[in-house]
Amino acid sequence: MTPSSGHSDAIDAMNSGQPPFYQLPSDEVSVSFEFFPPKTPKMEETLWDSITRLAPLNPKFVSVTYGAGGSTRTRTHATIQRILKETSLAPAAHLTCVAATREEVDAVAQEYWQAGVRHVVGLRGDAPDAGKDGDGGYQPHPGGYENAEALVRGLRDIADFEISVAAYPERHPDSPNLAADLDNLKRKLDAGATRAITQFFFDTDHYFRFLDHARSFGITAPIIPGILPVTNVGQLRRFAKQCGTEVPDWLGNLFEGLDDHPDTRKLISAMVAGEMCKRLHAGGVREFHFYTLNRAGLSYAICHLLGLRPQGTSKEVSDG
Ligand SMILES: Cc1cc2nc3c(=O)[nH]c(=O)nc-3n(C[C@H](O)[C@H](O)[C@H](O)COP(=O)(O)OP(=O)(O)OC[C@H]3O[C@@H](n4cnc5c(N)ncnc54)[C@H](O)[C@@H]3O)c2cc1C
Repeated sequence: MTPSSGHSDAIDAMNSGQPPFYQLPSDEVSVSFEFFPPKTPKMEETLWDSITRLAPLNPKFVSVTYGAGGSTRTRTHATIQRILKETSLAPAAHLTCVAATREEVDAVAQEYWQAGVRHVVGLRGDAPDAGKDGDGGYQPHPGGYENAEALVRGLRDIADFEISVAAYPERHPDSPNLAADLDNLKRKLDAGATRAITQFFFDTDHYFRFLDHARSFGITAPIIPGILPVTNVGQLRRFAKQCGTEVPDWLGNLFEGLDDHPDTRKLISAMVAGEMCKRLHAGGVREFHFYTLNRAGLSYAICHLLGLRPQGTSKEVSDG
């Protein structure tokens, strides 16, 4: 079909300032990947297939989450240890303040430092039953760090860690307003963190508005967008509700009728996240953090669209 000149004008207007992915220079973009510690040998195998596949994309760091209330302490540590031992990747260990005294949290950080970890993602965390009845209800542990800012200060006293913290383009649900949330972010950075990684979002305008506000608050540190490739909208809605992220109607509509079409959902997911990354790139973003959910395929595809190519070989393994 040959589009009429009206159509092509509209397409040109839509794409103006946004080159197609295949024109993007790859050496400008850097990425990081987030994983969670596996619970079973099968999940461990999936995680390692994913790490092995994504490693040749030369991520700046790979981070491993920390379960509510320190529930994954041993598994997070074991995953980090294995990354250190078997790869040349730089691991970033997540650490939270939940259900632990300062001494207990400090001991975990010291273990990380002794194991060779130099980067920590410092977080407050949530109450273990957060979201179950719609109320996070976070209470600091008596004798614990009261929030992420206090944790960052504590980490600074322990060792010369590189520290990342969380940011919320759509405001954290516990924060009364955006200004209070930005004040909190600034305090975390002033306490010694060097970058923020955002909660996932789907409307790039939220991210750019947040970035503008942050800059107007005197926040100069990098604020890296966290990209979540979505394949299960039902699950996403539950999770998004807890963290205050809007799931736009168009996203729900796109996945309508695809419950029994997992391969199609993956294609759509790559397209949606790819489009988001393209918009972010057009707005000047050059660093991206991927919530991989321990599956390499979608993150790999989006990185490929962003122009990244493996250094050495990267073998495709089915994500299942
Ligand atoms: C990139 C990223 C990674 C994550 N990884 C994990 C993980 O591994 N494990 C996990 O359990 N969770 C993780 N989370 C979720 C995170 O723990 C929750 O979002 C949690 O509710 C807030 O953590 P925080 O570090 O942002 O908290 P904080 O920055 O301490 O603050 C949370 C909210 O409370 C408000 N607040 C804090 N202190 C004060 C104060 N003194 N006065 C008034 N208001 C205050 C802030 O404004 C903010 O809105 C992650 C989130 C992100 C974005």
